[in-house]
Amino acid sequence: MDYVFKMVVIGDSAVGKSQLLARFSKNEFNADGRATVGKLVKAQIWDTAGQERYRAVTSAYYRGALGALIVYDITSAASFEQVPRWLEDLRAYADPGMVVLLAGNKCDLGELRAVPTAVGRELAEREGLLFLETSALDATNVEKAFLTVLEQIFYRGA
Ligand code: GDP
Ligand code: MG
Repeated sequence: MDYVFKMVVIGDSAVGKSQLLARFSKNEFNADGRATVGKLVKAQIWDTAGQERYRAVTSAYYRGALGALIVYDITSAASFEQVPRWLEDLRAYADPGMVVLLAGNKCDLGELRAVPTAVGRELAEREGLLFLETSALDATNVEKAFLTVLEQIFYRGA
């Protein structure tokens, strides 16, 4: 039987969640996991329909998810400051063993950076999250971010 893992993408509006997912699914993969595990690992990745703008992401969105990407925009301190609130939601609604990766997106916009890499990494370490900076625009670390979460879920024996 194949594995199907549900994963959610959360974070403030306009940080690039939908673009990350679009970039990841376009690469239609060289990476369905078959090669390493002999079974197809399917990811069912949920994106919001914009309800995060009203902080109206409900428990149904999180239900059954084994992994999450919390995304902020490295050019927006405000989006980074909201990360703890997204973590609270995860802790309220999601599986406690969930694999979570903090993604500082738009790293192609280095000249507009408002959140130093070290600050993002520190928060991740303090909260026990994986961490990467990504760019949906130039594809930096996009595949790696999703695959790291899926691999961790797999190896934790889901
Ligand atoms: P969402 O609201 O979190 O789903 O954000 P979107 O994916 O809709 O992206 C919001 C805006 O940011 C759009 O104008 C995107 O083109 C832009 N954007 C998303 N990701 C990146 C990125 O990695 N780099 C840059 N420069 N722009 C991005
Ligand atoms: Mg979106």
